[in-house]
Amino acid sequence: MREDGKMVVGKHRNTKVIVDLGAIKENVAQEKRQLEADQKLFAVVKANAYGHGLVEVAQAASQAGADGFCVAVIDEGVALRQAGFEQEPILILGVNPASEATYMASYNLSVAVSSLDFLQAAQPELLKAKLKLRVHLALDTGMGRIGFKDVATLKEAVAYLNANPQAFVFEGIFTHFAQADSKDTSYYHQQLAKFKELTGSLEQLPPYVHVANSAAALWHHDCGGNVIRYGISMYGLNPSGRELELPRPLKPALSLVSELVHVKQVAKGESIGYGSTYTASEDEWIGTVPLGYADGWLRRMQGFAVLIAGQYCPIVGRVCMDQFMVKLPANLALGTKVTLIGKDGSEEITAQDVADYAHTIHYEITCCLGERLPRIYRE
Ligand SMILES: *Cc1c(COP(=O)(O)O)cnc(C)c1O
Repeated sequence: MREDGKMVVGKHRNTKVIVDLGAIKENVAQEKRQLEADQKLFAVVKANAYGHGLVEVAQAASQAGADGFCVAVIDEGVALRQAGFEQEPILILGVNPASEATYMASYNLSVAVSSLDFLQAAQPELLKAKLKLRVHLALDTGMGRIGFKDVATLKEAVAYLNANPQAFVFEGIFTHFAQADSKDTSYYHQQLAKFKELTGSLEQLPPYVHVANSAAALWHHDCGGNVIRYGISMYGLNPSGRELELPRPLKPALSLVSELVHVKQVAKGESIGYGSTYTASEDEWIGTVPLGYADGWLRRMQGFAVLIAGQYCPIVGRVCMDQFMVKLPANLALGTKVTLIGKDGSEEITAQDVADYAHTIHYEITCCLGERLPRIYRE
């Protein structure tokens, strides 16, 4: 415990997220080699670096050539500044309250802006504080999330920025694709055309113009812009799930491992877990694994499998908050390694396999790995 009462995540648990920083560096370095001379790579490290650990991933990405960072919320940007990233551009991709404008500016964070209202509300505070906020105007070209949708409102915002150089630095303009990871490229092309139409209406563009996420960087190399926002592929995962083949190999960085903490034989007819949803159909060896849905190993993983001693062992009974049970092939020793995501011998369970079973995407699987899991870093 710290004096402020917050829990410190130590290295005491026998359940761990293992992050291969070497893989992250290779993925970043490989992508950097694909870029044009004038293009920068911003490492997207929002959501605790998709569960991999904000500061450690940012450091690895930076060592491998990342030129800046993208985060989702203010606190993530401040955490990077406090970790020693004093000069690097840090862009907050989400919309924030105008009342936070001076706070963001005081940390020299860049911020996505989606309305003239934000600028008008932020301006007096910024003037009073004598701070300038770095602004990236978001354009909604078809994602339907945030951003300016038409030439008239965009031009108003640009005029306002240009009229208030004491309060704002007009640093960037960008959009986000909804389907850059799709076999059908028509919606992608529609969005790109819309982006060109909107930006083409401006007399002058800001220094940073950007459209690419990982999917566009991989499958639409000619999408343009002078920054790519590289997220999921930095972590070694295919943005499309299983829809599109990767144009070049990526190295997954994350594994999730634990150990058997309890092993017992149960007799035919005995049941396991809340609701007694599993009943042994013969005498069986059952092991207990010490993580659960509070760690992001969700209840819907009931019936999936983990790797133990190189074999797939089914999860039996409901996943509890902090533990779950597996059916073992034999009486295995306490402390035997359990692999939930990663390789064991010749077998592998990928984040994509977990996502398929959970009817979701691998992004959600790694992002939901809880804060209380220790992260162990390897090169
Ligand atoms: C999260 C995010 C990204 C990164 O997307 P990946 O698919 O992980 O590469 C890029 N841009 C914006 C606006 C985002 O919100």
